Amino acid sequence: MRIFDPHIHMTSRTTDDYARMAAAGIVAVVEPAFWLGQPRTHPGSFTDYFDSLIGWEPYRAAQFGVVHHATIALNPKEANDPRCLPVLDLLPRYLDKDRVVAVGEIGYDSMTPEEDTAFERQLALAIEHDLPALVHTPHRDKARGTRRTLDVVAASGIAPGRVAVDHLNEVTVGLVKDSGCWMGFSIYPETKMSPPRMVEILREHGTGRVLINSAADWGVSDPLLTLATAEAMLASGFKEDDVEQVLWHNPVEFYGQSGRLDLSAAGLITGLATGPTFAGSSIKRGGE
Ligand SMILES: [Zn+2]
Repeated sequence: MRIFDPHIHMTSRTTDDYARMAAAGIVAVVEPAFWLGQPRTHPGSFTDYFDSLIGWEPYRAAQFGVVHHATIALNPKEANDPRCLPVLDLLPRYLDKDRVVAVGEIGYDSMTPEEDTAFERQLALAIEHDLPALVHTPHRDKARGTRRTLDVVAASGIAPGRVAVDHLNEVTVGLVKDSGCWMGFSIYPETKMSPPRMVEILREHGTGRVLINSAADWGVSDPLLTLATAEAMLASGFKEDDVEQVLWHNPVEFYGQSGRLDLSAAGLITGLATGPTFAGSSIKRGGE
């Protein structure tokens, strides 16, 4: 089985995770720029992070046969910190990079006026740079947050088919389906969406325009929950083709709209033992 996780924060994960993912068939990932837990205090902190998302992290992933792309943005939470806002002026140069396949994560955390401004500005950047947009929805007051998100997306003029609205649940899926945007679901170990609930949503709404991700990061999360969802689909009667549609072809279609998705190395291990270094570093321990 081939799996593409369209939303996972590999920077927070270990090489053990990469090895387990590759063994499970998870051979393509997109890593959205996000909050690191520890608040950033200046724009330079973002640029080093963005450089890592398009440099070190794809290098690290390739050692395990996992193809890594990124989305770049000022995240909704830090859009509230005036010390972080100058990063908005630095985004255009990253949005031109080969490995950047969308603007994201953008959207709402607490639905403040500051978040409105950053969200609108970054949707405009997506249009300008001809990129899709990955939109985070708030974990609190989700229905209201999702409605407001869809209003802002509609007002921006971006084509709904170029927008993924993420972290949906049973309450918000219908709103996003009707909007023409892609429907993103993050599967978590204990809270929010689980594999059995996801299977029920797929039964009711079908497999079109659905993206399933683990959103694994530095919090309680599990990079193999895409595989667990695939297995739950098969166990409940979905066919292999349906699984491949949702967990491979859909993310390929969505991020393929960037014109930059290159999956030719998916599943190809490029040399843990003999590979080159990245800026003088490698993931090996000890001497060459
Ligand atoms: Zn995320």
